Amino acid sequence: MQETKSNPSAPLRIALVAHDAKKDDLIEWVGHHLSMLENSELVGTGTTGSRILEAYPTLNLTPLFSGPLGGDQQIGAMIAEKRLDGLIFFVDPLSPMPHDVDVKALNRLATVYDLPVAYSPSSANYIMRGLIKDKQKSIAAA
Ligand code: PGA
Repeated sequence: MQETKSNPSAPLRIALVAHDAKKDDLIEWVGHHLSMLENSELVGTGTTGSRILEAYPTLNLTPLFSGPLGGDQQIGAMIAEKRLDGLIFFVDPLSPMPHDVDVKALNRLATVYDLPVAYSPSSANYIMRGLIKDKQKSIAAA
């Protein structure tokens, strides 16, 4: 993925992560947004990304390491390097996570770099609509 957004018609770059109890929800959400996501460059934490690819093999999705084994931190690094336009992270607020520190670090970097983040399906709908509108505007202005 490119480091900067120099080309207005470049695909959106989106990271997808879901905690175990929310993976089915994310797969369903992706299914509802396939037409937009098929034109995007996607990354996902290991298990999330592999499950999404199993369901939708034509997506341009690169699975990273599993979240607890460094995948969250890989996405954090991509945020710091400005290689993402958005993060869709379906969190499970009802279960303690052994890798809570990684999740906090990821959320912290998303805030530091003011990256659009969605933690649930309805917020993800808004984020996607906003990202696509911004993309259309930058293409029109180019
Ligand atoms: P996973 O990681 O997709 O590898 O399960 C998600 C997470 O960070 O909890």
